[in-house]
Amino acid sequence: MGGGQLGRMLLQAAANYPVETHVMENDPGCPAAHLCHHFTRGDITNYDDVYQFGKGLEALTIEIESVNEEALLQLEKEGVRVYPSPSALKTIKNKISQKSFYRDHEIPSPEFVVTQNRADLKAHLAFLPAVHKIGMGGYDGRGVEIIRNAEEISRAFDAPGVLEKMVRIKKELSIIIAANDKGETAMYPAVDMVFDNKLNVLEYQISPAELPEKVLWKAQAIARKVVKDLDSPGIFAIELFVDENDQVFVNETAPRVHNSGHHTIEAHFSSQFDMLWRIMLGYPLGNPAAITPAAIVNLLGAEGHSGEAVYEGLEEILRIENVFVHIYGKKETRPGRKMGHVTILSKEKQELIHQANRIRHNLKVVSAG
Ligand code: ADP
Repeated sequence: MGGGQLGRMLLQAAANYPVETHVMENDPGCPAAHLCHHFTRGDITNYDDVYQFGKGLEALTIEIESVNEEALLQLEKEGVRVYPSPSALKTIKNKISQKSFYRDHEIPSPEFVVTQNRADLKAHLAFLPAVHKIGMGGYDGRGVEIIRNAEEISRAFDAPGVLEKMVRIKKELSIIIAANDKGETAMYPAVDMVFDNKLNVLEYQISPAELPEKVLWKAQAIARKVVKDLDSPGIFAIELFVDENDQVFVNETAPRVHNSGHHTIEAHFSSQFDMLWRIMLGYPLGNPAAITPAAIVNLLGAEGHSGEAVYEGLEEILRIENVFVHIYGKKETRPGRKMGHVTILSKEKQELIHQANRIRHNLKVVSAG
């Protein structure tokens, strides 16, 4: 449910299976709308819209956490199979319950306190510097702010959330795990996520992650525990931090197909999208192993450009061998908006980084005119 870029890629993968697809989203011009068999216009956060849409369907999935989970819960009670389970979605959807889940299950995650509003933050000066995360509705770096001192509290957002101890991050990783209705799982190789600290967005990503074996094992064990304890079928992306002492912490979990798994379309035997169809349709899990190492560059709307999207430098990038361009078909660009991604395949890590930088510098999403 939701018809953004993830929905679009999911529908592209559906073409391999005997399945009739339905999409619900408010915007009939969304990236997934023209790829599904049945489009319904509706508000994914509204109980009645979600309930009416899901009634009578066999299986449902989401591409964003904001879908109304009470309606999903009712649909599940009435026999619709929902991926992820509404209870897992409920746990994850709010950062406060997500962080409490990690604590209650002894899953390592940065220490935190719950705050109800801005005034509450003042009681935790000893906790600073810290990362303040909004409870509901944060996405892609929105709703996350660093607070270093009392003065910065006065500019903080004024809503329930968590204040999280700042980790001295050496590396950010993501591990995607698939789980089916029988409780069987398949784990994709860990990927390295390299962030642009200024914009708080992914700069590029490399798969597989380069890590000492013991750190990798720790990360894999933690990711497995997250999915086991969530006790839900579906696709889960577990984002992790490795700190300067090689300690591993869960940052957050997404209960859905995820940006950090887009390279699996070209670089893996079964992509995360293919895997989700297998789960939803009750087929055997696919093979998550890599055919080749890969990198991903996100195509974001350039600063200072809003309006009809134009892809500058596209021809040059399309000439590169082993580079796969995915443009999501969003009509309007805005600064920082995710407009597409590019996957690079190569056995040489240097080549992956070189091409990733080339793409970042030469392919721009600007506005017409
Ligand atoms: P979003 O869900 O909006 O992407 P995240 O919770 O992943 O937000 O935070 C965005 C980025 O902020 C992370 O990728 C990381 O670089 C930084 N960050 C988040 N939490 C911490 C923390 N506890 N310590 C240090 N940096 C953090």
